[in-house]
Amino acid sequence: MTPRLHCSCTLRSVLKNVALDEGLPALACPDCGAVLLKMDDWRRWRSRSPAAVALGVSVAADAVSADPGRARACPACTRLMERLPLDAAGALRLDRCSTCQTVWLDPGEWQALVERGLASQLDAQMSDGGQRRLQAERLHASRIQALRQRHGDACMDEVLRIRRWLAEQPRRDEVLALLQAPEAAAPSQRN
Ligand SMILES: [Zn+2]
Ligand SMILES: [Zn+2]
Repeated sequence: MTPRLHCSCTLRSVLKNVALDEGLPALACPDCGAVLLKMDDWRRWRSRSPAAVALGVSVAADAVSADPGRARACPACTRLMERLPLDAAGALRLDRCSTCQTVWLDPGEWQALVERGLASQLDAQMSDGGQRRLQAERLHASRIQALRQRHGDACMDEVLRIRRWLAEQPRRDEVLALLQAPEAAAPSQRN
């Protein structure tokens, strides 16, 4: 890797060689803990470590520190990097320079990626298709959130439960019509 790359943190520290995993070299800032990863190094590691795919477990979205929201400058070419979400909640975001094929990891972010099973999925998650899928998931989650605010959690849990149950019914449309049909109502409710 190009020698003497500097971190974008206030101290502009010189990045030092580290290993994120066996066979996965990277450059880390000794002062802020951020890590610069070359996608070529990641791809070599990924092709040698197929077992890493299954290593993830699901972790709550709040387990990772909040997104600071600012994009970094690429230490190699100084262009502003793209800030790409890696999960639907947007709690994990990597800065990528598509020119240099590098990503910046905030302190603790690699471990968070490993714990969520995303460390081996960087290419897939950062691809156009992966980003579109994440955006659709985010949109869906925000719609459900708005409905929960309007109707309350108890009501929405029941609605979602009934929807799942309805989807399994062979005569779904008839069952749906029954919910509003007057002849299906209990006698006491007719008065
Ligand atoms: Zn730094
Ligand atoms: Zn660059």
